[in-house]
Amino acid sequence: YELYVNAIPDPVEHTPSYLFVFRDRTSEEMADEMKNEFISIVSHELRTPLATVLGFMEILLHRDIAKEKQKKYMETIYKEANRLSNLINDFLDLQRMESGKQTYQMVPANLSAIVRDVAEQWQGKHNHRAELHIEPDVFVTADIDRMTQVMHNLISNAVKYSPDADKIVVKLRKDEEHAVVEVRDFGLGIPEDAKEKLFSKFYRVDNSDRRQIGGTGLGLAIVKEIVDSHNGTLSFDSELGQGSTFRVRLRTYSVSGLGGKVVIIED
Ligand code: ADP
Repeated sequence: YELYVNAIPDPVEHTPSYLFVFRDRTSEEMADEMKNEFISIVSHELRTPLATVLGFMEILLHRDIAKEKQKKYMETIYKEANRLSNLINDFLDLQRMESGKQTYQMVPANLSAIVRDVAEQWQGKHNHRAELHIEPDVFVTADIDRMTQVMHNLISNAVKYSPDADKIVVKLRKDEEHAVVEVRDFGLGIPEDAKEKLFSKFYRVDNSDRRQIGGTGLGLAIVKEIVDSHNGTLSFDSELGQGSTFRVRLRTYSVSGLGGKVVIIED
């Protein structure tokens, strides 16, 4: 808030009256903050991959280089352009969620099917085997696309941050009135001092064994936003060098008021 105080002389009493004006600057400040954040992202996060793309494009266009090298350069360009595209998409997703503009299509959703689909999509893409322990037909109230994004981000992290392991474990069980999804890996783990910052935007653990692993630092911030919007909880256990388990807890959707049966009423 901004506070203005005006003294108004009172001709009769000879003591002034005071006018206090409070101005709510929340929305202006939020807009300023968003602008600053955007400028800092453009300067750090976007310029680096863009410079790489332009540098390699220039070499390809203006110099004679061997075919093999050309292919290598093009692969780098493709990787960096992909990174830029992911960064922009993640950033816009998160901005929409944080500003409350994201709408969620909440429907009764079969979480077992969502988790299984995402885990199976990852089967073919990497060297890890996904061990699945999924209780069938666990229903929750959720936005199916956003919940798919949650599972995708957690499973892709489990794979990315366990480069030397050959499996990940994905579990879904019903725990009284909750559905609990666990994504476990046997990889790098998370250092103690990083744990409290892990869900912050753009935060990435920066040490030598992770420098080669691509990412935007937005994946877990997005997961947290989505899980919070579903009134769920997100937590993790991790030990450095041993691996991590990320856990999402959501209330199950219940049709118990109908005696456990879904009744379809036609008119
Ligand atoms: P990123 O795009 O960097 O993967 P995230 O927001 O998904 O961004 O994760 C933030 C950071 O948390 C990562 O950079 C990584 O260091 C750490 N992290 C996330 N998941 C795991 C995991 N399963 N094992 C180890 N570290 C992880």
